[in-house]
Amino acid sequence: MRMPLARHVVEAVAVENGVCIRPMPMRRTNLDTGETQIIPVPCGATLASKCPPCAEKARRLRMAQCKTGWHLDDEPVPDPDPPTGDAKALATLRADLEAARADVLAAGDTEQAGEIDELIGQVDDELAALGVRGKAAPDNRDRPRRVRSTKRRQDAPDLPRLPVDRRTVGQTFEAADGTVWRPSMFLTLTCDSYGHVHKDGTPVDPASYDYRRAARDAIHFPKLIDRFWQNLRRAVGWDVQYFAALEPQKRLAPHLHAAIRGTVPRAMLRLVAAATYHQVWWPSTDRPVYDDHRLPAWDDTAGGYVDPDTGAPLLSWDDALDGIGEDDEPAHVVRFGPQLRADGVTANTATTGRMIGYLTKYLTKSLDACHDIASDPQRRHVDRLADALRHEPCSPTCANWLRYGIQPRNTRPGLVPGRCKGKVHRRETLGFGGRRVLVSRRWSGKTLTDHRHDRVAFIRQQLEAFGHTGDGPAGDPAANRTAWQLLRPGDPAAPRREHLLLHAVAQRHAWRAQLDAARAAAGGGLLPATGPPLPDAA
Ligand SMILES: [Zn+2]
Ligand SMILES: [Zn+2]
Repeated sequence: MRMPLARHVVEAVAVENGVCIRPMPMRRTNLDTGETQIIPVPCGATLASKCPPCAEKARRLRMAQCKTGWHLDDEPVPDPDPPTGDAKALATLRADLEAARADVLAAGDTEQAGEIDELIGQVDDELAALGVRGKAAPDNRDRPRRVRSTKRRQDAPDLPRLPVDRRTVGQTFEAADGTVWRPSMFLTLTCDSYGHVHKDGTPVDPASYDYRRAARDAIHFPKLIDRFWQNLRRAVGWDVQYFAALEPQKRLAPHLHAAIRGTVPRAMLRLVAAATYHQVWWPSTDRPVYDDHRLPAWDDTAGGYVDPDTGAPLLSWDDALDGIGEDDEPAHVVRFGPQLRADGVTANTATTGRMIGYLTKYLTKSLDACHDIASDPQRRHVDRLADALRHEPCSPTCANWLRYGIQPRNTRPGLVPGRCKGKVHRRETLGFGGRRVLVSRRWSGKTLTDHRHDRVAFIRQQLEAFGHTGDGPAGDPAANRTAWQLLRPGDPAAPRREHLLLHAVAQRHAWRAQLDAARAAAGGGLLPATGPPLPDAA
């Protein structure tokens, strides 16, 4: 221990052992004895570039979730009551994270603040999954303000409109020999074409390739997908459920793979996809008013941005919206491209497994890393798309509105067009800032947290069956009598990161030995060949 350990060596050991490489130190206090212990808690990253073991664990969890709901025989049980203990623990963790965030910001460490923001997002997701409504701390950025006039309803008038039955389970079909089939579907939806592309995804004619429309379509694609599921349910008259993943095609446009429970005729899917659209009712951004050399300036007395020459205040966001007339066109309309694939999949076939692998294949990669960007044309293709994305407004609060002579909503000093921090502007998102996995509410009747608990419970069962009930992730008898607290950066009790990692590896070894012993005691073979799920807290 006298030699400082190289961080990357320790990380390699951790990865090899499936242990989180960016653990958060948490203090566990036994409320009976007052004893405290520092426990490395996994970071829970979903991207392998951040933490390979956590990302792989998250991907496997998604695979399990996908499999559970795809071919259900019975309606999933309605959402269980939220486990209030979990919600409380998460809320406390969130409070700790907020405090930690304030600390690192005060110390000027914006990178770490970004990481903490991500954790806060994850905790919020978990809270939402538990059925805790609203966010623990509201971010008041995107409150809907106005009701659209009827003319602007996003109806698809050419579709059948049936009342939607509560049913979510697919129908069965009986073959002549009496075999009963319960088929489901695998669906792929794509964006429109922006110009001809080569096999490697790069445009044949970069000058005429419509990067602006590609950027806008990517930014608003999630809204289009929502609209599609709504339209589909109304058109078929039952509550279609899906597990969908978003990934880029080689040409870098997003496309959606979805496992659908039950079957819908292909012709109907085509009809719904063709009739579905989403209109963006924002002020027009076709012509910039200001360029980089002459940008609006912040004015304290006006409490907003003013024209750099005349000093006249810019149009407020609300006034700009009010200026959109009844006869104006929407700023943008998103539609699906003509390519649509839909295949039937029956339960428990090799195809099901392959399709689930396909659906979750890219989940651990950022969108720009899903395909190899190897050649110069490919790099330039990404560059041009990234450039278009940098200047498109991402939301009503985006700094890019200044370029079009409009005050962003909740305007404040320091906004620079082209430097908005919104996710869609980042190169690695390719314009898609939303969730990569979209799961309908009644897919499996379980939240991701339930699936996670299933895995821990599964291991606990295996161990308990043989009288092994040690502590660690498999079972902590004192779980209800302990308090957890996140160690703030700079806490004198916080161990060096390398030591925390080694501690986690040792814990994992001990735990695995326990599991192996249990397995040996049972004569082996009790655990499925795919191995046990990864433990929650390695
Ligand atoms: Zn991790
Ligand atoms: Zn933005």
